[in-house]
Amino acid sequence: MIHQDIHLMEEHRTICFVSPHNAYLSMGLSRHGRAWFITWARAYGMLDNNKARVFCRLNNPSSPRDRQQKPNCFWFNTDSMLFTNAYKMILESEPTIARKTGRKRMERMNGDPWYAQEIECEEIEVLMPEWGLLRQCFYCFDLETEDQGTPDPGLRRFQKCEGWLDRDCYWCQICQEKGWFSSYTMKLQQILSGEVIWWNIYSENVLVFRAMRRFGFLLRKFGLFST
Ligand SMILES: [Zn+2]
Ligand SMILES: [Zn+2]
Repeated sequence: MIHQDIHLMEEHRTICFVSPHNAYLSMGLSRHGRAWFITWARAYGMLDNNKARVFCRLNNPSSPRDRQQKPNCFWFNTDSMLFTNAYKMILESEPTIARKTGRKRMERMNGDPWYAQEIECEEIEVLMPEWGLLRQCFYCFDLETEDQGTPDPGLRRFQKCEGWLDRDCYWCQICQEKGWFSSYTMKLQQILSGEVIWWNIYSENVLVFRAMRRFGFLLRKFGLFST
């Protein structure tokens, strides 16, 4: 395999990586706030659409903030069932995208639904520049691909936008053209109709999303909302 150096890559293109721990399938990294994710770099056959491409969350951002921590660092605490696999994927990749800083601390286990168990978490530093990360649309949950940023006009990078009470958001070209009001209405409709992809980088609080889906279910049950 040809060794690629991320610092020599073309700016404004997404950066994707492969690892022997995931059959060399093209993957990307995504971030929202302090939450880091591994994302599929394209919709492979087993995924029915472009929106369900979050592979796993890599850390637990609801754990106490570390004031000393740089913004490109996180405590590895994945919610993936394949804990070791996600760990090896980001540390044994081509190109090299992350490294261990050597710092460790205890956190409640992310994959444990009751957060009861404590585990030792290693600090990981992301070496990929911010512009290389795969961005997700805050409104329709579409995710950038490995081809994003190529001269194809349909593959323009997602632009920064201001979501509702959230400044760390991006939107796709289609939602940007529709404008925030119509895009937000569509997003709420998706949530209330239960069509939304729960597994997105903005679902910081899964319980809130579940509650909203439940609310949408009740509205439909009583005929107050039809889709
Ligand atoms: Zn290198
Ligand atoms: Zn969109």
